[in-house]
Amino acid sequence: MARVLIVGAGLTGSLCAALLRRELPQRLLRIVLWDKARGAGGRMATSRSTQDPKCTADLGAQYVTRMPEYAKKHQGFYEDLLTHGVLRPLTAPIEGMQMKEGAENFVTPEGISSIVKHYLKESGADVFYNHHVTQICLRDEKWEVCVSTGSSDQFDIVILTMPVPQILQLQGDIVNIINKSQRQQLESVSYSSRYALGLFYEAGTQIDVPWAVRYISDNPCIRFISIDNKKRNIESPDVAPSVVVHTTVPFGTSHLESDKEKVQQLILEQLKDVVPSLPEPASIKCHRWRYSQVTKAFPGSPGQITLHTKPFLVCGGDPSGPGTFSQFWFLMVDVIDLAA
Ligand SMILES: Cc1cc2nc3c(=O)[nH]c(=O)nc-3n(C[C@H](O)[C@H](O)[C@H](O)COP(=O)(O)OP(=O)(O)OC[C@H]3O[C@@H](n4cnc5c(N)ncnc54)[C@H](O)[C@@H]3O)c2cc1C
Repeated sequence: MARVLIVGAGLTGSLCAALLRRELPQRLLRIVLWDKARGAGGRMATSRSTQDPKCTADLGAQYVTRMPEYAKKHQGFYEDLLTHGVLRPLTAPIEGMQMKEGAENFVTPEGISSIVKHYLKESGADVFYNHHVTQICLRDEKWEVCVSTGSSDQFDIVILTMPVPQILQLQGDIVNIINKSQRQQLESVSYSSRYALGLFYEAGTQIDVPWAVRYISDNPCIRFISIDNKKRNIESPDVAPSVVVHTTVPFGTSHLESDKEKVQQLILEQLKDVVPSLPEPASIKCHRWRYSQVTKAFPGSPGQITLHTKPFLVCGGDPSGPGTFSQFWFLMVDVIDLAA
C-alpha cells in the first residue's frame, strides 16, 4: 500500500485528498494529512467566539465564486456541495461589490471551513494538526518528512499545498531538489497581505445596517465589512451575530510587522468612523494574513509543479492556476497517475 502525505488542510489539501480517495480505495492508498494549525480550513478559516461556539466568523475567504468560463467544467464540485447543503447561492444585500458578468457567488451556512471539512470527511484521510513540517529528505527512495517537534515519518508521495514562501522555507534535501529555474519561478509568485478582525457579539444584539456586506473604497484602512450570519442567510435570535472586517492591502502591507494589538486598535478606530452605529462586541479576534491572495501566479499557471518524480514530490494550490477549483484538476491527474 502506497502512503501519501498531503501537507496543508486547506481547500487544496482537502480536495486533493477527496479526489485521490475517489480514484483509489483504502487498500491501495493510505492518505495522511498534516497541518501546522490547530484545525482545518487554512485561508478558508472560520473562527469561533471564545464565549459562544455557535457564533462564528469567516476570517479569510468569504465566498466561492463560480466563473462563467469554469461553470461547466466544475459542475460536479458545485452539485456535490449544493446537494450536501455546504453551499448556498448568495442572496444577501451587498454594497459596492464588483462582479464579472456571469459570475455567481455562493456562501456557506456553516462557515467557509465547512467546505474543507466536507472534503476531509469524504477522503477518510488520517488528519493530524499541530504538525509543522520543517524538513523533507530522500531516504531509500522514500520521503522522510520531519516536523518541528523533531519526529518524522516516511512516505511514497508528498504533496505540498501551503503558500509558496512556506515551501521555500523547508530544509533538507528539498533545498537542492528544487532546481534553479523552478526556484526562480517559485520566488516570482507573490501574495497580498491584509488583516482581518472578527467581532463577536452576544445573542440578540442588533446590528442596524441595511447591507450584509459592504465594500469600502474611500478608507485607507478598511476595505470590507461583513455581517457574517446575514451574509450566510442564517439570521436567527439564537445565533449570536459576528462582524468581519478586512483591511486594505496597503494598510496590511505597511503594518505587516507591527504589534497585532496596536493594529487592532487602529482598525477599530477607523471602524467607528465607517459604521458609527456598530455596538461594542463581547470579544475580538485579530488575524494577520501574511499570505492572503495571490497577486502573481506561477508563470504559465501549470496547475501543479513537479519537484521530483521518483519518489513523487509535487506542489500545488492557488498560485498554480486560475479559478477556485481549477488548480486541483491538473494536480490530481498527475498524482493519480503516479499513485495508481
Ligand atoms: C482575507 C482573504 C480573503 C479571501 N477571499 C476569498 C474569496 O472570497 N473567495 C475565494 O475563492 N478565495 C478567497 N481567498 C483565497 C482563498 O482563501 C485561497 O485561495 C484558498 O483558501 C487557498 O487554499 P490552499 O489550500 O491552497 O492554501 P491554504 O488555505 O493557505 O492552506 C495551506 C495550509 O498549509 C498549512 N501549512 C503552511 N505551512 C505548513 C507547514 N510547514 N507544515 C504544515 N502545514 C503548513 C497552513 O496552516 C494551511 O492550513 C481569500 C483569502 C484571504 C486570506
